[in-house]
Amino acid sequence: MHFQMKMIYQLSSDFPLDRKDELSEIIAQTTSVLHKGVSEVDQETSTKISSWDISGSSLEFQFTAGETRVAPHHAILRLRKYFKTTLGERFRVGLRGFKILEYKIVISLDFPTNTPFKLPFTQEILFNEKEATIIIDPSIPEDLLEKGAIDRIIRLVNDKIHQQRYGSKAEHHRILFSSPQKQEVCSSDPTEQMVKANWLKRAAHRNQWIITPTLTTLTEAIKNIMVDHLYKPLGFDQMIIPKLVPWDVWKRSGHSEGIFQGGFEPYFVVAPQTADPKFWEEVADHVKITKEIPRELIASKVRPPLGGLSFAQCPPFYWWLKGETISDTTFPIKIFDWSGPTYRYESGSAYGFERVDELHRIETLFVGFPEQVIELGAQVRDKLKFIFNDILDLEVRGSYVTPWWQAHSGDVKEEKEDTKAPTVGTIDFEAYMPYRGNRKDSDWLEIQNISVIGSKYPKAFNIKSQSGDQLWSGCGGGSFERFLTAFIAQKGTDLSKWPESFLKYVDKLPKPIEFL
Ligand code: ATP
Ligand code: MG
Ligand code: ZN
Repeated sequence: MHFQMKMIYQLSSDFPLDRKDELSEIIAQTTSVLHKGVSEVDQETSTKISSWDISGSSLEFQFTAGETRVAPHHAILRLRKYFKTTLGERFRVGLRGFKILEYKIVISLDFPTNTPFKLPFTQEILFNEKEATIIIDPSIPEDLLEKGAIDRIIRLVNDKIHQQRYGSKAEHHRILFSSPQKQEVCSSDPTEQMVKANWLKRAAHRNQWIITPTLTTLTEAIKNIMVDHLYKPLGFDQMIIPKLVPWDVWKRSGHSEGIFQGGFEPYFVVAPQTADPKFWEEVADHVKITKEIPRELIASKVRPPLGGLSFAQCPPFYWWLKGETISDTTFPIKIFDWSGPTYRYESGSAYGFERVDELHRIETLFVGFPEQVIELGAQVRDKLKFIFNDILDLEVRGSYVTPWWQAHSGDVKEEKEDTKAPTVGTIDFEAYMPYRGNRKDSDWLEIQNISVIGSKYPKAFNIKSQSGDQLWSGCGGGSFERFLTAFIAQKGTDLSKWPESFLKYVDKLPKPIEFL
């Protein structure tokens, strides 16, 4: 690594030039400031002043550095503090701030890039076989520099190069367990079957469906099964998690860093600039006259997105506990929520009922000490196994996969292959879909996941235990759309072929409306 920076400190008044010698002494003493906390070996490559000058109220420096902990963007912050005191005390001159004139950072690359790129707050990034030269935009705000933006820019250049080489989503998939093979009664597309039976109809929006009373009765049955066999025995309580998610939540959960990068595809929400009827009157008039919606005009009257619609269901839950210290006896906290839909902008062609933009998930959530969370993760997994295999009589398997929070944030780490499931991680339940082909080669449908997440969320939302012991969390989600699609794919729509264990939960199936 090599750094080269030219910058000025802006003084509050002109510097008395007849005292330049004294200034020179003060600047000579900066070495100790720059070397503070730096080992002797590292001092060699640490930031050095290669030249300086004073004219008027501008104190100008040129810095160079090699591989170091105290690069020029750190050095100027240390020196700002030092000069503020010394210049004030010795010359009665204040320090206003600083301005970067040029900043060039050369980093060595593990691989050459195949697609050069630029980043925010850089003027340019030049690549050759072995190096990238990052030219920082001199207008980068001072507070961003203080918050570590330069180090993040350097890291991001490396991350992108690695992504180009290995792909951003090294999705892991390893089968951990399988239910027994089930006898197939059906081999046609479940969405088509449900549409044909008049149980399901496409709604006005893309990948959105009208879930008729018939199908709603079946979702109700599945809910009751979950309560009886998972939530009641394990002592989970139901709650209502907010479904409109402001940026503050997604900033903490890390979702905002993976926006439309292959794991987090939210619908945005916008608020009007004002609710003043006068402001909106022309829109209303336009509709009255044209009977059309003036969408561009409306777009000009709304604010930038305030966030989006619930995507992963659990992140807004943590706002409840944010910043709190919680009594040790409260743990583990055990929650489930099915109070509203979640939304995903599923790109590509129109899908069936298995991949919808408006989905109805049932979320399972637990927070506690690590051993509690690990134990609950295993218990929930076992109960789900029982529900899918014994009650719904589905042919399913469980696979260890890339954890969802890594996929959503675009932050996919290389996982070590080992034979047993790690304590922190995600297991997907996948159902065999006979209409897609044979068991071995066809795509199975993910119907539910269950994760032990570790300390990520309690940390991100600053949640503490009374004893100060570390807190972990875990969660799982599955949609009624996926449960039902998998069930119909394996069992069909003929109730006489359905397992008694499920039918027990279906009181009476409402007769579909007859369309003529
Ligand atoms: P996929 O890879 O199939 O898109 P995912 O990895 O995006 O699934 P997760 O983010 O892990 O799904 O969400 C957990 C659960 O949410 C899934 O197991 C599934 O039950 C449900 N789910 C996710 N996306 C959809 C969708 N578009 N339609 C219906 N259910 C969905
Ligand atoms: Mg998905
Ligand atoms: Zn969750």
